Amino acid sequence: MKKLLTAFLPLLALAQEPDWTQVDQRAVELLQEYIRIPSINPPADTRATADLLTRELEAVGMKVTRYNPEGNCINLITRLEGRDRSLKPLVILTHMDVVPVDAKAWKVDPFGGELKDGFLWGRGAMDMKGIGIQQLLAVTLLKKQGIMPARDIVLVATCDEETNGALGAKWMIEKHYAEMDPAFVLDEGGFGSRDILSTNKLTFGISVGEKQSTWLRLKATGTAGHGSQPIPDNANEILLTAILKAMAVPPTTKRHPVVDEMIRNIGQLAQNKLTNAIQKNTISLTTLRAGVGDPPKVNVIPSASEATLDCRLLPGVNSAEFISEVRARINDRRVTVELVSDPMDTGVSDSKTPLFAAIKASILKHNPGAVVTPMLVPYGTDARNFRMKGVPSYGLTPMVVDAATLATMHSDAERVPISEFLKGVRIYFDVLRSNF
Ligand SMILES: [Zn+2]
Repeated sequence: MKKLLTAFLPLLALAQEPDWTQVDQRAVELLQEYIRIPSINPPADTRATADLLTRELEAVGMKVTRYNPEGNCINLITRLEGRDRSLKPLVILTHMDVVPVDAKAWKVDPFGGELKDGFLWGRGAMDMKGIGIQQLLAVTLLKKQGIMPARDIVLVATCDEETNGALGAKWMIEKHYAEMDPAFVLDEGGFGSRDILSTNKLTFGISVGEKQSTWLRLKATGTAGHGSQPIPDNANEILLTAILKAMAVPPTTKRHPVVDEMIRNIGQLAQNKLTNAIQKNTISLTTLRAGVGDPPKVNVIPSASEATLDCRLLPGVNSAEFISEVRARINDRRVTVELVSDPMDTGVSDSKTPLFAAIKASILKHNPGAVVTPMLVPYGTDARNFRMKGVPSYGLTPMVVDAATLATMHSDAERVPISEFLKGVRIYFDVLRSNF
């Protein structure tokens, strides 16, 4: 009997294997169609993107529930039943919105979904419609092949991530948590690369934590006057001094344990802006606003000016203490420091879980010899909202990209390598059919 079973098992596995040639073709078509919908946020009109996902899910017999926080913002949920229904589900998180485009700067139509030089081009190709299609196909393939996952899988597609998620993940958590209630969350975040995390070694980082967005607005007030006669309380000069003092707040020197783990797994990290940012607290001067009139007059000293600092703090750093330190260093009654974001210290997710192991195994199956490591990411993702609730959440981009390609996210040449996009469908599918 045992002999018969072992003889039969490979056949069973074979029957469960999708027709990959067909899947590849469909994946490219779907991503093109998805990118051609300009779901720019604001206003996060995601009706058409939700229609596309709904159509594909319903075509394989899955039930879709749609939510409408406001306007044409649509969030949707679908659930694939697992073998053990007593376990909490895996939530796969995706956002359907994209950032706006500077159309004049694009060399291809940002909403054309063009295929050129081995890449699929367009706004959202990397962030995150490419992953969205990988997730959609992985789920619909399981359903089509009749494969029951180890536990329920809930796909959650949201309308708003790019303007902080108030109508997307945060809204779903606030209003419909019971429909999700995940054991784990899988979102965007990490990535595979040969030149970003390490130099010349194929490395996949799976994000287990992110930095805290601590956005500060500095406002200086002074006395207005004629530019021909300098005065000591020039708001611009007061602001300038305050900015320099704030930016001199020393970055933490204590390395985060996840970065220690990265170094143990990878060896020496590559030196670039990303690896720099995950090793310390950082401050970027992002906006400056001053002057009287439009365009601002050169010969008028304004009475007020303001700037914003995008500060990103490592997990575990107390943001209130950081802000006090900024205020203490500026130490000028003519300058106010206002917090304009909601920094969340969510901690980091444990990587010693069956899901993390399944992700690692699937990546290695399709990228033999790669190093797979937990990582921190310097930017924010929706996963933080689930980590805040204590749910282990991982960021996975199952594709190998180089620094130049990754940098096209939010830029005017956003694109995804087609071969890696297709490999990512297989990786996602293998993760979802593993024992996690
Ligand atoms: Zn994104």
